[in-house]
Amino acid sequence: MPSSNAIEGALQAADELSKILPRIARSVGANDTRLFLLRDAETLVLVADSNGVIENQPRLTASVRDLPAEFTIEDVRAHALNVPIQAANGKRNSGVNFKTSMLAPLLSFDSRMAGPSGIKIGYLEAVRETPDTFNEHDLELLEVSAGWVAHTVGRVDADADDNRRLKESAAMAAISRALSGTLDLDEVLQLIVDLAGDIIPQVEQAVIHLLSEDGRQLQAAAVTGQVKNRSTGIGLRPGEGIAGLVMKEGITLNVGDTRRDPRFISAGGELKMRSLLVAPVQSRQDRLGTISVQSGSPNAFSPEDGRLLSTLGLQAALALENARLYDAQRIAREQAEHQAAELAANANFLSILNEITRAGMAQPNSESLLEMLANRLGELYNGDGAYLTRWDPETRTASLVAANFVPSGDSIPIKPQAGERTLTESVLDKGHPIAVPDVSDSPYLNKSLASRFPAKSLLGLPLIANDVQVGAALIGFNVERHFSELEIAQGEVAARQIALTISNIDLLEAERSARLDAERLRDELSGALENEQTVRARLVQAEKLSSMGKMVASVAHELNNPLQGIQNVLYLVGQDANLSDQSREDLNVMTAEADRMADLINRLRETYRPVRASQFSAENLNLILLDVQKLTATYCRHQGVQFEFTPDPRLPHIAGIFDQIKQVILNLALNAVDAMPEGGRLMIETQAVADHVRISVIDSGPGIPQEDIPHVFDPFFTTKEKGTGLGLSITYDIVKQHLGEITVRSKPGQTVFEIELPIANPNPNE
Ligand code: ADP
Repeated sequence: MPSSNAIEGALQAADELSKILPRIARSVGANDTRLFLLRDAETLVLVADSNGVIENQPRLTASVRDLPAEFTIEDVRAHALNVPIQAANGKRNSGVNFKTSMLAPLLSFDSRMAGPSGIKIGYLEAVRETPDTFNEHDLELLEVSAGWVAHTVGRVDADADDNRRLKESAAMAAISRALSGTLDLDEVLQLIVDLAGDIIPQVEQAVIHLLSEDGRQLQAAAVTGQVKNRSTGIGLRPGEGIAGLVMKEGITLNVGDTRRDPRFISAGGELKMRSLLVAPVQSRQDRLGTISVQSGSPNAFSPEDGRLLSTLGLQAALALENARLYDAQRIAREQAEHQAAELAANANFLSILNEITRAGMAQPNSESLLEMLANRLGELYNGDGAYLTRWDPETRTASLVAANFVPSGDSIPIKPQAGERTLTESVLDKGHPIAVPDVSDSPYLNKSLASRFPAKSLLGLPLIANDVQVGAALIGFNVERHFSELEIAQGEVAARQIALTISNIDLLEAERSARLDAERLRDELSGALENEQTVRARLVQAEKLSSMGKMVASVAHELNNPLQGIQNVLYLVGQDANLSDQSREDLNVMTAEADRMADLINRLRETYRPVRASQFSAENLNLILLDVQKLTATYCRHQGVQFEFTPDPRLPHIAGIFDQIKQVILNLALNAVDAMPEGGRLMIETQAVADHVRISVIDSGPGIPQEDIPHVFDPFFTTKEKGTGLGLSITYDIVKQHLGEITVRSKPGQTVFEIELPIANPNPNE
């Protein structure tokens, strides 16, 4: 019976098992691996565990009933199992508590039988002391290992090929080492085909074919003994041909004679290959390709060879999965890094954009703003230079307005010459960014200009705001540089903002200069108007006065002659001693009145006689005012007017005629008192103002109606019953003759007459 033979085989292969079992335990992460063989249909014998074959003790025998409650012997015969062991049944055999068990059937392959099926001879169990179940991958490994163990214990042939077994275990060890030691997939696949060619007798060539990405071709990924040529591909028709069947079914096929097997489809031509053994390269459900060995002799491969090849197929799949996993991880990591970099770049971009936007609103100085914009753009691209140009659509020329550095000297040596094509012009023509990887070879800018430009590559961004071509932003790099779509898109956004900012500056500046122009014009106009009015008013006043003066002078002269006659006659009449008392009294009145008239006429003639500067002397205005105050004191008290004089003690002297100035102040003071019949305040102040002295005569009377103000200096303008209307006109004339100014402003409760007189020349020799 084969099973007892298997137990014999296990004893014979004790050395090997003691190496294999711990290795299997390690590979699936188990605490122990145990080999059970069927002694008969009902009895299982524990033959070996990770410590080796149990030889010297009485053999531990387990009944089928000792199996974990979850599985029956039928289960074990049919499938590999991977279940937690119920606590009640956990304490078995070795007295160790196992929490998880994984079982795989052991199938023996009789060399006389063809095909992949075999006879069950026992099972291989991997156990864990922890309650976590094994994964699919572990289960697959255990299944493959079970094949390996079955292969080891199942050989009853006397001519067991020890050498081959050694080779196989060495091969598995080599593959395991390669799998965990290198990430180079090609290296591992090459190792696997080389080992297949080495271990399986009569192999002339071993190949691993992998399914192409579109799933329609098997492509050679590793070939023994030759430099792999990836273009070697087999067209794949699922389910057809040997490769198609292996890929469809996931089984190992052993074609003893290609000439006789109807499943074999010849690629045509002289066929040297007679035997073909093909196993799937598969992991879990994924069939990734095939591993195949071929030979020129018929019936070259045994079922053991088939098992081995399927094991190698599984290893190849593991290597592929590892590589894919690694690739996926690398890609994920790279993606994450890329995303992080993009996010950082984007955050940087946004903060720069924000700064540009805010700056446009806050920066008062357009020059420093433009420089700031150039700086930020340079930062955005990590450029070696950033420039802003302005475009003049009329002359179609570009001029540099800002650069984030000046290479040498104070002028920027990249001023375009007339007729030179500039990148500014090019980007504005295109209306979108232009990347120039090499400035010396680009249709977008003139060669000679490029040779003067301190950059190897350039990114040009058009600055266009509301369809107005503002200029361009140019970012220069010392090395050849290519730009990602994202970089160009960010540049476009930044450029739009900058263009807007610049056109806002333009608008603001245009507005400001227009406003300044308008203000200046208005000032000039109103100044001119004011000037014209005062000039005109003064002219009118001067004209009135001079004609009035002439008239008064001639009238006075004309009156003077008859008056003198009258005075003479009055004098003669007064000499008559026979006059009655009454007559004498009347005569006295007439004489007094005539004298008064003569006096008035004299004063008039005096006043309107042109004054000569030689008559001026330096006078202390404060003294004149004190004189006036004394003169009017009684009258003021009588009228209930309070006279307040506030002199400036450091008042310089004026050049003038004492009596005339006294006359002026007296006129103003008496008018003020006249205006306040109910009493009030009369305030006179003096004050030094630059090269003038100012006298203000202020009263608290009812004021002058606005419509009268233009006329108060006119001769004969009066509102008083007994007024002459000459006081202010004489005052005006005197002030004028003293090269001074007199003005009046008035409102109810306050009338202010203000006189400004030039101060006396402190050094008369000059
Ligand atoms: P007169 O005093 O003879 O009227 P003036 O030339 O001195 O002549 O004054 C002209 C007019 O100006 C006065 O009649 C009066 O209506 C007005 N006026 C002058 N000074 C004052 C004042 N301080 N308050 C109000 N009205 C004044």
